[in-house]
Amino acid sequence: MAEQRQEQRDGRDAREDARTVGEPWGRGVRDEEARAWEQLVATARRTVTDGLVVGTSGNVSVRVGDTVLVTPSGVPYDRLTPDDVTGVDLDGRQVLGSLVPTSELPMHLAVYHSTGARAVVHTHAVHATAVSTLVPELPAVHYMSGALGGAVRVAPYATYGTEELAENMLHALADRTACLLQNHGTIAYGNTLDQAFDRTAQLEWMCHLWLTASSVPGLTPTLLSEEQVAEAGEKLRGYGQRG
Ligand code: 13P
Ligand code: ZN
Repeated sequence: MAEQRQEQRDGRDAREDARTVGEPWGRGVRDEEARAWEQLVATARRTVTDGLVVGTSGNVSVRVGDTVLVTPSGVPYDRLTPDDVTGVDLDGRQVLGSLVPTSELPMHLAVYHSTGARAVVHTHAVHATAVSTLVPELPAVHYMSGALGGAVRVAPYATYGTEELAENMLHALADRTACLLQNHGTIAYGNTLDQAFDRTAQLEWMCHLWLTASSVPGLTPTLLSEEQVAEAGEKLRGYGQRG
């Protein structure tokens, strides 16, 4: 990344000269942001190693105060270093770093504007994307839909990176923490990067499950009722260990 940044620096005005090489422009990176960046990069790398995206597809963000750290556009996640911290304010103005932020800023910012999300994960997971081309809503084949707020909707297609896609996504996300993006992928949010990632992985797993169950010739999967999903969702709030 250092070379790419150096090239970008060479093309900039005198502002750049006053800055130390390797130090992001805009304001300085705070300790909390440096720690959040480390977690963001680890999460982005996991989307690749867990097979949820290929190459530089997808993007990840995490909110620290009123700054949103985001993956840069089109940069392989294994090349990201602590010097690549990329951050925007809630209006999308770049406040940290010199790399171009993800093209899906409209979706990420729309989530932060409309929910209490602290982290957002967008992927092109294969089973989820396949389902997004087949139905307007993922059929309730498993109670884990309850963990995402109910049956997962599919946002109608719009070109990647557009406000229109962000708008379609927001409608599909009403009362949900995840949705599918038609002919594109997934988006999920949470209180932490781990939670947003886990929701994405559960969604991909459920899509795989539905595709598997619905592809048995002559048989149709049994579906859960809205009440059954809601009841499971309620119970899942207390799932796991105390505290
Ligand atoms: P970026 O590399 O700009 O984040 O775009 C990837 C993507 O998934 C667009 O929908
Ligand atoms: Zn995408």
